[in-house]
Amino acid sequence: MVISDSTWCWPANGRHLRDISLACEGIPIAPCDSLDWKVKGRSFSFKAAWEAIRVHHPTAPWANTVWFPGAIPRHSFCLWLTFHKAHSTLDILQRLGIVQTSQCPFNCGHDESINHLFFACSFTKAVWVKVLKLNNCPTPTSWIWESTARWAVGRTKGKQFHRWMRRISLAASIYHCWRERNNRIFRHLVSSPSRVEERICFDVGSKAAFCRNILDSPTNRAIADNWDIDGSIFKSPELGF
Ligand SMILES: [Zn+2]
Repeated sequence: MVISDSTWCWPANGRHLRDISLACEGIPIAPCDSLDWKVKGRSFSFKAAWEAIRVHHPTAPWANTVWFPGAIPRHSFCLWLTFHKAHSTLDILQRLGIVQTSQCPFNCGHDESINHLFFACSFTKAVWVKVLKLNNCPTPTSWIWESTARWAVGRTKGKQFHRWMRRISLAASIYHCWRERNNRIFRHLVSSPSRVEERICFDVGSKAAFCRNILDSPTNRAIADNWDIDGSIFKSPELGF
């Protein structure tokens, strides 16, 4: 309550409101006046208030690769961190003096960095090769993250099922490789590339099984077969659309 008996009545201890209360001092109030949140003529909503006060930035070119209908939130968050190069990889920690060595935990003999982990490392590359094959994608010529990110921005967008599968399986690959890396460093647990692939297949397959009315094209059918996804995701021919 900031208006009472036709006078301003700002909270005495509301220091964060001080600038507003000083700016309002000279504004006369009539008995019928009241205060409402309004944004561009709309009534108050948390969304409208957030849109009014937040700092706006242009949408990142990879936004739709990370956030999309049917995405697995923990996978998307991990992929979002990767696009921001925000993972605390060992090369960064060594530069900060937090760890002594940046040797890759997959024992490939190279230093760990974002570019190395996704997917230049022999371990994670084996996982990513398998996932690309399941999606019937050609083998890339460069394996560092920056190349993978360019591929993701250019080749995973769109509403088609095969593009959706690329997005969700990229996010799952990043998540499970990062999780395997953490298991090795913090829990001293080691899994093989095929075990990591199984985890990716389980998550992607479980999510894809909820798809419905997918176009029954040779491309989509081949990908569904590769991932062992039930044919019930496809449109029934008798529906006629
Ligand atoms: Zn490595």
